[in-house]
Amino acid sequence: MPRGMYLKSEGFASDLFDPKHEQTLRAFCERNGHSYADVGVPIPLDIFYSYGLEFQRQLLPDLDTRLVARVSVEDGGFTLRLDDGEVIRARRVVSAVGITHYAHIPAELVGLPPELLSHTSQQRPVEQYSGRRVAVVGAGSSAVDMAGLLHQAGADTQILTRRPKVWFHHPPDGRRGVNLAAKRLLKPRSGLGLGWRSRMASDLPLVFHSMPERFRLRVTKGHLGPAAGWVSRQLVEGKVDIRLNMSLRYAKANGKVAHLVFENAAGETEEVVADHVIAGTGYKVDLNRLVFLDTELRSHIANVHNTPILSPHFESSVRGLYFIGPSAANSFGPLLRFAWGAKFTSRHLANHLTRRHRILRET
Ligand SMILES: Cc1cc2nc3c(=O)[nH]c(=O)nc-3n(C[C@H](O)[C@H](O)[C@H](O)COP(=O)(O)OP(=O)(O)OC[C@H]3O[C@@H](n4cnc5c(N)ncnc54)[C@H](O)[C@@H]3O)c2cc1C
Repeated sequence: MPRGMYLKSEGFASDLFDPKHEQTLRAFCERNGHSYADVGVPIPLDIFYSYGLEFQRQLLPDLDTRLVARVSVEDGGFTLRLDDGEVIRARRVVSAVGITHYAHIPAELVGLPPELLSHTSQQRPVEQYSGRRVAVVGAGSSAVDMAGLLHQAGADTQILTRRPKVWFHHPPDGRRGVNLAAKRLLKPRSGLGLGWRSRMASDLPLVFHSMPERFRLRVTKGHLGPAAGWVSRQLVEGKVDIRLNMSLRYAKANGKVAHLVFENAAGETEEVVADHVIAGTGYKVDLNRLVFLDTELRSHIANVHNTPILSPHFESSVRGLYFIGPSAANSFGPLLRFAWGAKFTSRHLANHLTRRHRILRET
């Protein structure tokens, strides 16, 4: 997420989950004098970042920050090699890698050299693009935020999207007035937003898990798709050149510039020349990107579209190997892509692991 931006989720839906519900974002903001409201006050990234660090220091002071370089199956358990060479053994492994490994760059762009192409997940100071032509491909949250920041930094910025419009979230309406009861009934609020679909995705992840696979894949892909936060609208509207209905055909490097060739809505070919291209093309869960899982181990994980097929307890087809967070969204729904999913995930998985541990001890 670009520095200087705001979270899309409302305050009440941005808590990190602790069992006693004491370390909330509200409590953190009150302690540190930051403005906070459950709804309607956008949360700056740096405040969320400080909240995360304080949460970790208080609840997980012994957090081991070394990277896991390799996980393999040996002697009926797991062997984990850490990046400093230490080896540890575990009976169970929970992969909670978020979107770290899943930055998606479309095939049409991958041929560009790194000096001409980056992904929104790669943090670089935007000031270096001042006075340069930057093409941002995509129009989701990261793309729009990045384009807004580039414009502020004095870059000649264009957003190019194949979609017919840029979707922005609506600002919260405050939900006051005589029609409040009707509004609540028609569009109930949840940590995933307003409306019954979000409410069900938020409250019924296990029901979602029991639905047919085709339904789950369709809903996880389609519901809560790419959209920018309502605060981001003012960053780009009337400021950044937004080109809609532009389908990227191919890209090539020509000296120090990139040439992007698009097909527009009229079916004509259009070429855009840029000093740098930023792929705001999101994230795609793909087991093959989890290179820290040994190839042999990865080949045994049953999957659909390269995403793990999981039991109702997050366990993959490799016994003892679990996936949570966005990697588990095709099984449990869009809830797993957001901080709001942490409560369900941590309680449900912790209960399961505790039960399994007890059974093992008793046998
Ligand atoms: C631009 C953007 C905006 C977003 N805004 C919101 C929002 O407003 N609200 C919201 O709820 N969600 C938002 N999200 C989604 C957000 O990413 C998830 O809600 C949340 O981060 C998922 O948490 P997580 O713990 O599953 O993964 P992450 O927070 O991504 O954490 C994964 C961790 O795993 C570590 N890791 C990865 N590989 C290894 C390894 N091999 N060894 C050791 N550690 C490893 C990483 O270093 C990282 O610390 C946004 C996402 C993006 C891209």
